[in-house]
Amino acid sequence: MKGKRPARKRGTFRNPPPNFPGNPELYGDPENWKYPLDTPRRAKLARRFFSMERSRRKYSEEERIYIDNRIDSALERFGIDSEAFIDTVKDSERVPDVVFPDDVDVDTLTLDDLLLHFVGEKRMESSKAIPHDRFEIEKVTDEYIVARVKEYLIKVDIKSRVFAHDCGDWIAWMSKKLLCKHVARLLMTIDPQVAVAVLLDLYKNKNEWTFSSRPREIFA
Ligand SMILES: [Zn+2]
Repeated sequence: MKGKRPARKRGTFRNPPPNFPGNPELYGDPENWKYPLDTPRRAKLARRFFSMERSRRKYSEEERIYIDNRIDSALERFGIDSEAFIDTVKDSERVPDVVFPDDVDVDTLTLDDLLLHFVGEKRMESSKAIPHDRFEIEKVTDEYIVARVKEYLIKVDIKSRVFAHDCGDWIAWMSKKLLCKHVARLLMTIDPQVAVAVLLDLYKNKNEWTFSSRPREIFA
């Protein structure tokens, strides 16, 4: 096997996650029970997740070679062309499509993880380029968020699960319930507890949330 078998990492599973194979050989990273490869879908998810810089940087170059090799062998076994698949991954990353692995415990997700899921890596970068002081924050409580950025307004009614904003990107992605760079930046700026609570609720109860392009029409 090429590369070097990864060492134990902090904050990873010590036992196989529930509903996942008990045989470490069925994982891209057997030592940490990460990147399960027992089904075609999981092998694809492993490829997608392990193609992200934030996943890769947790490993040494030799360890990355080892994991890449195992994932690619699994894809090959399932008859999936990993080269072709990687291209689709790159395309799909132009819109946010960051999927958490099946074994993730959502309550341990950080603000960064959640934002990445809702805005994608590209938009996350442009979001970080917006200075924090560009926001005029009117209200941040457990119930409401109200802020202005440039000519736009952002309003969140947390209890009623209504998210309203009016920039072009927001409107383009609204039906997918994804966030624009303004909203992402605002969530990085306010009390992180409120931001994480909103995003976790949105993640867990996506269908219960209403996205609107008319922030002026929701609560005053
Ligand atoms: Zn926006």
